[in-house]
Amino acid sequence: MQHSDIIIVGTGHAGAQTALLLRQRHYAGSILMLGEEADPPYERPPLSKDYLAGEKPLDRILLRPVAFWAEREVDLRLGRRVVVVDPILRQIRTDNGEVYAYETLVWAAGGHARPLSCPGHDLAGIHMIRTRVDVDRLRAELPGTDRVAVIGGGYVGLEAAAILVKAGKQVTVIEAQDRVLAHVAGEPLSRFYEREHRSHGVDLRLGATVSGIVGRDGRATAVKLSDGTEVPADMVVVGIGIVPAVEPLLAAGATGGNGIDVDGLCRTSLAGIHAIGDCAAQVSTYADGTRLRIESVQNAMEQAAIVGRHLTGAEEAVVGVPTFWSNQYDLRLQTVGLSLGHDRTIVRGRPTDRSFSVVYLRRGKVIALDCVNATRDFVQGKNLVATGARIASDQLSDATVPLKELSA
Ligand SMILES: Cc1cc2nc3c(=O)[nH]c(=O)nc-3n(C[C@H](O)[C@H](O)[C@H](O)COP(=O)(O)OP(=O)(O)OC[C@H]3O[C@@H](n4cnc5c(N)ncnc54)[C@H](O)[C@@H]3O)c2cc1C
Repeated sequence: MQHSDIIIVGTGHAGAQTALLLRQRHYAGSILMLGEEADPPYERPPLSKDYLAGEKPLDRILLRPVAFWAEREVDLRLGRRVVVVDPILRQIRTDNGEVYAYETLVWAAGGHARPLSCPGHDLAGIHMIRTRVDVDRLRAELPGTDRVAVIGGGYVGLEAAAILVKAGKQVTVIEAQDRVLAHVAGEPLSRFYEREHRSHGVDLRLGATVSGIVGRDGRATAVKLSDGTEVPADMVVVGIGIVPAVEPLLAAGATGGNGIDVDGLCRTSLAGIHAIGDCAAQVSTYADGTRLRIESVQNAMEQAAIVGRHLTGAEEAVVGVPTFWSNQYDLRLQTVGLSLGHDRTIVRGRPTDRSFSVVYLRRGKVIALDCVNATRDFVQGKNLVATGARIASDQLSDATVPLKELSA
């Protein structure tokens, strides 16, 4: 049985960054990185953006050239899913029966696309956007596709809708809430994106729940809504979030549920096991002390840095302000902070100019900004969020005054 000082499970942003950082910090022990996907570590965000559009091939979204990992003596083993973790023997087992021993385990397994569970969920022509393989499969069917139904009006669904409508498809977005982005943003941002998508020709159905997928000869032909309406579709794209990949750790006794609970140093309740990235639930000072899973590249990189630093001797975690981005059409959204639990929004600038920001307040403090084509607000707003600044609303709404002058 192979023994490694550190085993990293997951080859996404979190896992790859951990390996990279350990070597950057001159960690000399053995590192084994195991991943379920067959591809070497790659960037996930382009999957619903340039990669879906066919504008970037796989080699341009790789996190590092293929040879990099061997050069850094990271033993990369792909196409293996870890199914069992034994925290007492400090061993893991993969789906092909291999057993590996570790000293420290870093669980960076992210999540899998949440599948539909309604009747017809298993028909051909239904697609997810989580892996490179998902997107290649979807793209292979595009030439014969005219009508696409996107289920879910979150970031992934909307980004895909933007790409597909630009590619000349008739796109319908079906969202159960009464507005898009309802889980992640305030109403002004949702309404802005709804107008944008409609103006580009997307048919948006809000407050619409899916009761099933209708098919013929084993292939999806329409999405059926609870009110009986049918949305005809040659292809269905499902963007309804992820299921965190935590089963083996929960089965091993780790504390958690919707994500593995970790402390400030990303340690799980099991000795010698850390969890990071999309699968880890951590208490955030930027969310009023709530424990939550954050699904973003910045969070994955930051938690990788916390673990990488900790495993090479640093005692304290360095925590930055959460950030996120989304590209739709010619709109670049940049988010700083977490708007969760906001009790007020202030719009800076005019959405009709297609350059504005939404400032989120909780109990009078600035907690987040969503900045659309407004990078200056994003950069300068970071400090307001970091310090929990209290600023009068008429000042915040005045886009002619730079935010850095308000924080002074
Ligand atoms: C289409 C799309 C667009 C996105 N756009 C943005 C964006 O614009 N900005 C942003 O900040 N974030 C974006 N995100 C989110 C971001 O990509 C994730 O937060 C980030 O990739 C999380 O990294 P991770 O390493 O924690 O998890 P993942 O990227 O999910 O990587 C985990 C890896 O572990 C593997 N794995 C799972 N279980 C096992 C197991 N048992 N054994 C072995 N391997 C396993 C998985 O297959 C996967 O390869 C997007 C996500 C998607 C899907």
